Amino acid sequence: EVRVRFAPSPTGNLHVGGARTALFNYLFARSKGGKFVLRIEDTDLERSSRESEEAVLRDLSWLGLNWDEGPGVGGDYGPYRQSERNSLYKQYAEKLLESGHVYRCFCSNEELEKMKEIAKLKQLPPVYNGKWASATDEEVQEQMENGTPYTYRFRVPKGSLKINDLIRGEVSWNLETLGDFVIMRSNGQPVYNFCVTVDDATMAISHVIRAEEHLPNTLRQALIYKSLGFNMPYFAHVSLILAPDRSKLSKRHGATSVGQFREMGYLPQAMVNYLALLGWGDGTENEFFTLEQLVEKFSITRVNKSGAVFDSTKLRWMNGQHLRALPSEELTNLIGNRWKSTGTLKVSAGAFVEEAVQLLKDGIDLIPDADKALSDLLSYPLHSTLLSPDAKSVLDDKLNEFSVSLLAAYDSGELLAALEEGHAGWKKWVKSFGKSLNRKGKSLFMPLRLLLTGKLHGPDIGSSVILLYRAGTSGDVAPQAG
Ligand code: GLU
Repeated sequence: EVRVRFAPSPTGNLHVGGARTALFNYLFARSKGGKFVLRIEDTDLERSSRESEEAVLRDLSWLGLNWDEGPGVGGDYGPYRQSERNSLYKQYAEKLLESGHVYRCFCSNEELEKMKEIAKLKQLPPVYNGKWASATDEEVQEQMENGTPYTYRFRVPKGSLKINDLIRGEVSWNLETLGDFVIMRSNGQPVYNFCVTVDDATMAISHVIRAEEHLPNTLRQALIYKSLGFNMPYFAHVSLILAPDRSKLSKRHGATSVGQFREMGYLPQAMVNYLALLGWGDGTENEFFTLEQLVEKFSITRVNKSGAVFDSTKLRWMNGQHLRALPSEELTNLIGNRWKSTGTLKVSAGAFVEEAVQLLKDGIDLIPDADKALSDLLSYPLHSTLLSPDAKSVLDDKLNEFSVSLLAAYDSGELLAALEEGHAGWKKWVKSFGKSLNRKGKSLFMPLRLLLTGKLHGPDIGSSVILLYRAGTSGDVAPQAG
């Protein structure tokens, strides 16, 4: 039976790298009809917190990566938090002590520091020198009676070790440079690699799919597996996620946690699709996949072993694809609710919302984009000006003649030449323009304002138009959207 696990340490938010690991595990389990287990690795009590755990669970649920066993749902292999499994670790540590795979080491920290220094001087790897590996029963007994604190150290065999990684192929290690390592500290706290191995084995995990950075842990874990006589799971180490400059993706590259993307308005289905493409593809040009389609197409052996670049521009584009693929009613609801909640509209539904969504959706990649798209549309004078009651008094029956003359003044260059001369030029022009149409005061300035600025009210019309002219010609003003 296929059983995989996602094993987050609840020390912060769910990062896109962790989310991708969870996704690959989920897809593998679902595509094989297996189980997807969630285990919380909270052995580091200082850095772990319940809030982080809850945030991780919330983000996984938001992505739709539901687990079959783990916190909140239970299961036959619980408890699913490492902090609740201490007695199990103790039990297996004792077993290894009995079988001789582990021995007690009474070295003090100072002694271990000195050991490292000496190794360094001799240009040897800075590893444990095996001081207590072959101590006699009497020597051990004596230290125990003295109450000297001790750790449990794993006896690393000679030779080499290799695994067949499902993504990377054969990976092998020379054991000479490893040195006997601690599996239980002198305070009785089991060490991370030991806990993971006991958990994976006792939870009957068949495939361990995790990030490449865990490869050095795999070496130690594989040795522990063997010593306990457990069947080794299959391993698949997924490569790192890189920033566009090919350095390790980090906060300085922008948003990196799933929660940040959710808050920015990303859709879970777009996140899932994009994360799947970080190192995987179905072998065709197709990049658009729903979670169901991913389950159908996913294959662990198609996961690439080179690093995948996280491209937030592409993620945004992909969100647009998923947005437009939503059933029209769902998209209308999402955008309508956004408009209502941000105060862009007074209502969240109805014919107006439906038509506006249909008109604007092609220019929207993220739901929050919808605000600007609608405000730009509504800033056209037709909405705010021409349909207002005031407009009636301005739009008199001679407006046609008026606008033709204004266009002629523009066409001939006469209006622009006047604006170029500033206030004096404008005053002169407006006077003669009014004369030619037999208009002055309100009946001259109101239609002028409306036709030149699209507005019925505002600051002094002459100064406004001169400024607008300069804005268009001086380069002092940033280009206006829309
Ligand atoms: N708890 C580890 C982490 O969050 C994962 C360990 C594993 O997958 O074996 O990186």
